[in-house]
Amino acid sequence: MISLTEAQTAVLGGVPLLEVTRVPIVAAKGLVLAEDLTAPHDVPPFTNSAMDGYAVRAVETRPAPVDLTVIEDVAAGHVAKRTVGSGEAIKIMTGAPMPAGADAVVKVEDTHQDGSAVTIGTSVVEGENVRIAGGDLAVGSVVFEAGTRLTALHLGVLTSIGVKAPLVHRRPVVAVLSTGDEIFPVEADLVPGKIHDSNRPQLIALLDDLGIESIDLGIVGDDADSLRSALTRGAKMADVVLTSGGVSMGEYDLVKAVLSETGNVDIWRVAIKPAKPFAFGRLGGVPFFGLPGNPVSAVVAFEQFVRPALLKMMGARALFRPRMPGTLRVDVHTDPDRTVFLRMVAELEGDEWVARPEGGQSSNQLTALARSNAFCVVPVGTGDVQAGSLVELEMFRWPEARTEAEVLNVG
Ligand code: AMP
Ligand code: MG
Repeated sequence: MISLTEAQTAVLGGVPLLEVTRVPIVAAKGLVLAEDLTAPHDVPPFTNSAMDGYAVRAVETRPAPVDLTVIEDVAAGHVAKRTVGSGEAIKIMTGAPMPAGADAVVKVEDTHQDGSAVTIGTSVVEGENVRIAGGDLAVGSVVFEAGTRLTALHLGVLTSIGVKAPLVHRRPVVAVLSTGDEIFPVEADLVPGKIHDSNRPQLIALLDDLGIESIDLGIVGDDADSLRSALTRGAKMADVVLTSGGVSMGEYDLVKAVLSETGNVDIWRVAIKPAKPFAFGRLGGVPFFGLPGNPVSAVVAFEQFVRPALLKMMGARALFRPRMPGTLRVDVHTDPDRTVFLRMVAELEGDEWVARPEGGQSSNQLTALARSNAFCVVPVGTGDVQAGSLVELEMFRWPEARTEAEVLNVG
């Protein structure tokens, strides 16, 4: 059995970096920049007014009040034709370029205009209410580095520097297969001995969270021939093949056998709990992840191996979920020979993060996982941990969103 770190090293070393391509900005969310992005021009591109008001020479507003002559009106999107001279002002709207000669803007609330005369009620200093060209981004500066995963907010910035189609790594296509004679699709009514397929929908949705498209290969029974043909089909169509079930030590656990005969297996047991039975290898050159059948184990293996590997294939610099310290609220007994991932609710109490389980910790108890937002990671060699101990929390979700009642003090 190999350690978590050894397994992660082998997995990350065994996946290819996907090709680069240009993707229109509207379709780039979740993709990773393949080059450092440099600002081709200043943002804002020209010095402009931060307020609706009057562009003036600041020195002439001291001491206030003072009367100036309004020589022009300039709206956003237009450029003033005239220069602000002594005793003059130009009426200006937010976002309009600063007229020549002016060095400050008096906001409209501090003025009173009557015909072409404006009374400036409050003096301003040079630069007041003015947004300098390049104040957000200076031309030539690095905006975001290669390896940055683009969020909605990054896309806004890219647009501000005129990037129509950023250079990114393409998304992988992932084929997803469930295995087991006992597994029925959710559409079918259960009969004795059968259970519904939890893994496929949750894995497809976890991939969707990464913006990754999946090919649904359905369910295959514990039969070597059907397994072989499904896996071969998956490897032809996808960049990665993901299966669940059939990788433990039972007589009908055929995935590993079929994989060793069709491709090759690099890893098949890792010293973690849950998700000890985990296979990684190659199938016709395509990375293959054989996740355990128990739904909690499947998610843990996805989080620890598949998600980081897919992010690496997409060129991301940050591959792993954030961890933070928190206080354990209960005693836990864990296997000292493995890295243990306990499913916990982590929340802020006062100024301290605390964690407690929200249901059973068996690898089939999916509900407790779904109610949780963090893994309490107990390192190898630890065993028992007492309530009150400081532990590491790996956040796979932030705490539940706040309700209307909590925020607005109603009800
Ligand atoms: P296996 O890894 O095939 O030995 O399966 C381990 C356990 O996970 C067994 O109890 C299976 O019934 C269960 N299991 C396997 N695949 C799934 C699935 N897709 N959905 C829900 N449970 C599953
Ligand atoms: Mg099975």
